[in-house]
Amino acid sequence: MNNEAPLLSVVIPVYFEEQVIDEFYLRLKAVLVGLKPRYRHELIFVNDGSGDGSLEILRGLSKKDPCLRVVSLSRNFGHQIAITAGINHASGDAVVVIDGDLQDPPEVIASMVDLWENGYSVVYGVREEREGENLFKRFTAKAFYRLINLLSSHYLPPDSGDFRLMDGAVVDVLKEMTEESRYLRGMISWVGFSQIGLGYKRDARYAGNTKYTLRKMIKFALDGLVSFSDKPLRLSSHFGLLMTLTSFIAIIALVVIKIINPEATMVGWTSLLVIILFLGGIQLISIGVLGEYIARIFHETKQRPLYVIAEKYGFGDKGAEAQLEETPKVADLTE
Ligand code: UDP
Ligand code: MG
Repeated sequence: MNNEAPLLSVVIPVYFEEQVIDEFYLRLKAVLVGLKPRYRHELIFVNDGSGDGSLEILRGLSKKDPCLRVVSLSRNFGHQIAITAGINHASGDAVVVIDGDLQDPPEVIASMVDLWENGYSVVYGVREEREGENLFKRFTAKAFYRLINLLSSHYLPPDSGDFRLMDGAVVDVLKEMTEESRYLRGMISWVGFSQIGLGYKRDARYAGNTKYTLRKMIKFALDGLVSFSDKPLRLSSHFGLLMTLTSFIAIIALVVIKIINPEATMVGWTSLLVIILFLGGIQLISIGVLGEYIARIFHETKQRPLYVIAEKYGFGDKGAEAQLEETPKVADLTE
């Protein structure tokens, strides 16, 4: 095999996916074997603290397939951090990030590679259809992309997830971006170079349930908004200015009314209460917005490592080159 062929690294975050890994591995491997001898490949699975048999299965696969490496984190650090850990261990000329639940069809990788060959530095998957996702998820996703593009000074392509191919140059920049609030798709878009979307149909999960709880989704959305826009911070000063102006006009109007008609009685207990509650609400929300930013500053200043690695497999001392020489066929792995 040609040792000079470019290396493709594929990064896969895994969290409680024991029912999917085997099927995923076979489908991905078929695609990568199809790209030989033009490309060599390595698979980097990141076990994000799964409490099921995922790690055991991955360890088994790494014994059979010398292209397969496993990075096992000490606990659940979340999807974005797991991807980061994988990317940091990748040594490919290009790195592909793909979910391990077969929602992103591995077959699309071949088309991504074609676009990369045509000179694009980032090829991001754009979900044209979503199967097996409920109305709530579709609606919130759509609303979120609208909002983030309204607020962010930097364009973030709607409906693109983390499924993408990145050139090594982009990966090098990404490795230097060590912030803790990670909204990877935005960070990659920020890096620049030539980027292109590639439409694909997002399938339903092969097995199991989504690991993105509502809480994780909200945190993720806030990470995106807060790291890519400072407009929410400014919003309260704009609103404050507006309220000050309004009250100023109201004061003048009330004085004028009293001058014209000294007998006028100003009743309005209800409207007063409504205004007080409204302003109280606005003030609390503004403090909350401030809090979101300050909390992130607080976490950033600690400068902790982004993740802790418990175990690694498949990064043998033979070195990547030697291992890749021995790439077996899919048939060998499915006895
Ligand atoms: N995942 C992870 N850590 C987490 C949550 C998810 O590594 O804390 C992995 C998961 O195993 C899957 C991918 O990230 O491979 C996407 O997660 P999921 O399918 O649950 O999210 P959804 O596709 O529903 O947004
Ligand atoms: Mg999924």
